[in-house]
Amino acid sequence: MRVYPPDAKWHEMADGGVIPQAGNAEEYDVSGWRSVHPVRDDECCIQCLFCWIYCPDNSVIVKDQQVVAFDPKHCKGCGICAQVCPKDCITMQPGADMPEQEDE
Ligand code: SF4
Ligand code: SF4
Repeated sequence: MRVYPPDAKWHEMADGGVIPQAGNAEEYDVSGWRSVHPVRDDECCIQCLFCWIYCPDNSVIVKDQQVVAFDPKHCKGCGICAQVCPKDCITMQPGADMPEQEDE
């Protein structure tokens, strides 16, 4: 599977910047794309998993059917999780920094 390095030159990439291989999004660290990041209030959370269902980047981490964290490497800071949370338990905070993902 071909993965472009962060410093890839335009002439080293496919025409139009297309990524021709499917299924390799996990290989890319897109943490630099976000200017805000989600913070979840665990005491407020009712574990409805709406945020996990709606996150377009599969960046809501669930263990044992419980939301436990966000994926700092793949979350783009879109804010959809905060929008869909029925209890307003997620707030978008300024900055890109997020806690590192714990080992699974
Ligand atoms: S901000 Fe967007 S990408 Fe990040 S966890 Fe929420 S829905 Fe997913
Ligand atoms: S949508 Fe809100 S209440 Fe539901 S699991 Fe996510 S953070 Fe918890």
